[in-house]
Amino acid sequence: MDLSPSSCLGRYLEIEGLLHEFYHYFNYCAAVCIPNLLRLSQGNPVTACCKDRYYQVYDLDHPSFDLLRDQRETLYGAPKDQKAASGVSLCEYHTRTGCTLLSHKSPVCLSFMCRPAIDALRTQYGIYTYDYLGFNYALEWILTGDMAEKDWLDFRESIDEMLRRVKTARA
Ligand code: SF4
Ligand code: SF4
Repeated sequence: MDLSPSSCLGRYLEIEGLLHEFYHYFNYCAAVCIPNLLRLSQGNPVTACCKDRYYQVYDLDHPSFDLLRDQRETLYGAPKDQKAASGVSLCEYHTRTGCTLLSHKSPVCLSFMCRPAIDALRTQYGIYTYDYLGFNYALEWILTGDMAEKDWLDFRESIDEMLRRVKTARA
C-alpha cells in the first residue's frame, strides 16, 4: 500500500504523540539529567544532548520530511526566527528550558536516548526493547512510507506496551 506524504506524516505524528506521553511518564531527562547538569553549571543554560542542529544534520531528502519541516516552521517558526534560543546549543530550537518544539520533531530528536536513560528504562521499568538506532530508523521508515503494514502495527503496539508499563509503574 503506497501512502501519500501527508498520510505518512499522520502516522508519524501519531507515534510522536505516544512517545511524548511515554517521555512524560518516564520523566528521566527532566527530573534527573537536567537538574544534575544545572547544578554543575550553577544555573546557567545546559545543552544535555541537544548540541547540534540534528534536524538539519540527519533529516532525509524526501517529500515527507519536507512536509514535516514545513508544518514545524508554520507552527513554531523557522530556525532563524527563534528568539528564545539558549545560545549554548547550535540548535536554534533549544531554549533555556529545553526544546521549544512540542510536536513535529525530527526522527533523531524524537528517538534519541542516551545510555544512562536507557539503563534507567531497564532497571526502573524492566523495558529492554528500547534501541535508539532501531527507533530512529523505524521513525524514518514511517515517514518515508517504507515500513510494511504489519511492522507499522507491531511498532505502534510496542510503543503502547512501553507506555502501559511506565504508566502502571507510576500509578
Ligand atoms: S537523553 Fe540523556 S543526555 Fe539527553 S536529556 Fe535525556 S538523560 Fe539527558
Ligand atoms: S530540535 Fe529540539 S530536540 Fe532537536 S536538537 Fe533541537 S532542541 Fe534538541
